[in-house]
Amino acid sequence: MQPSKPATSWHVLGAGSLGCLWAARLARAGVPVQLILRNPGRLAAYQHAGGLTLVEQGQARHYPVPGQTAADPQPIQRLLLACKAYDAESAIASIAPRLAPGAELVLLQNGLGSQDAVAARVPQARCILASSTEGAFRDGAAPEGEWRVVFAGQGHTWLGDPLDDHPPRWLAELERSGIPHQWSPDILSRLWRKLALNCAINPLTVLYDCRNGGLNGHPAEVSTLCAELCQLLQSCGQPAAAVDLHVDVQRVILATAANYSSMHQDVAQGRRTEIAYLLGHACATAQRQRLVLPHLTALHERLLQYLDAHGLPSH
Ligand code: NAP
Repeated sequence: MQPSKPATSWHVLGAGSLGCLWAARLARAGVPVQLILRNPGRLAAYQHAGGLTLVEQGQARHYPVPGQTAADPQPIQRLLLACKAYDAESAIASIAPRLAPGAELVLLQNGLGSQDAVAARVPQARCILASSTEGAFRDGAAPEGEWRVVFAGQGHTWLGDPLDDHPPRWLAELERSGIPHQWSPDILSRLWRKLALNCAINPLTVLYDCRNGGLNGHPAEVSTLCAELCQLLQSCGQPAAAVDLHVDVQRVILATAANYSSMHQDVAQGRRTEIAYLLGHACATAQRQRLVLPHLTALHERLLQYLDAHGLPSH
């Protein structure tokens, strides 16, 4: 009998909230996984912590997932890119020489724009785009520090490849790891829809410094933005993502009325936002299409000024 081939290892680049959430679930299902840390200093700190900790429903469990840096010589066959959109291109460049022929990448970044930049850097790899509603955050207050991640919101991850609708074989590993997912040939439509929802809600919550529910006090502004976003989606070949956008935006505002949006949280905590891949990408796409969207453009300018006044980068 032939000895069975060892299972292909996952590499997770970005030991942040989602990276650790994925790595912990793969590791506990017995799927080989390695974390790629930013530099030798971060690797040493991670190794000192002895691995990562995932807190689920108040229960903390430790996972000694092995770590390495981009300089490790081991070839990479399967990579989860779990950094922020603004770090994606440089992060992928750092491991590009290690990608094996036929390597597959899963791109977890929010918004749009970073995925094309990554794909252009590594034309030899298959890029699978993801859109996730799972929620996790790093428990910075804990003594274990950075690698303690709280799984805060059950959700779902849609995965798809606009260039090839064949699902990859490893979806079975996600199933086994308890990562709720679905192969989604219309992944671009999903990403555009999520981007449009974000553009209609998040920037206004920053400018009005309010929870999502605070936008109930600005119905005309929300409605005008939705109308312009629908024009944009139609003109860039995503009409399905425009269907009932305003109704969906109102539903999200109601359902999440008590929450602060992710962009509001980033600004409140002095963290860089992903604006260039959300509202910035929407406005840049409109400009390329020579589409005049005055309210969306004005919103973008107001937000850039606001970030600048608060000492935060606008890209
Ligand atoms: P995060 O907690 O900030 O984690 C990002 C990680 O990437 C950090 O650990 C960072 O390292 C690391 N990183 C950046 N550049 C790197 C490089 N060159 N080499 C190695 N590591 C690098 O971010 P996140 O919340 O997981 O978000 C990741 C993406 O998922 C974002 O686009 C976000 O919008 C999206 N998303 C997040 C959630 C959520 O609940 N968190 C939900 C849905 C979608 P350092 O620690 O050294 O900076």
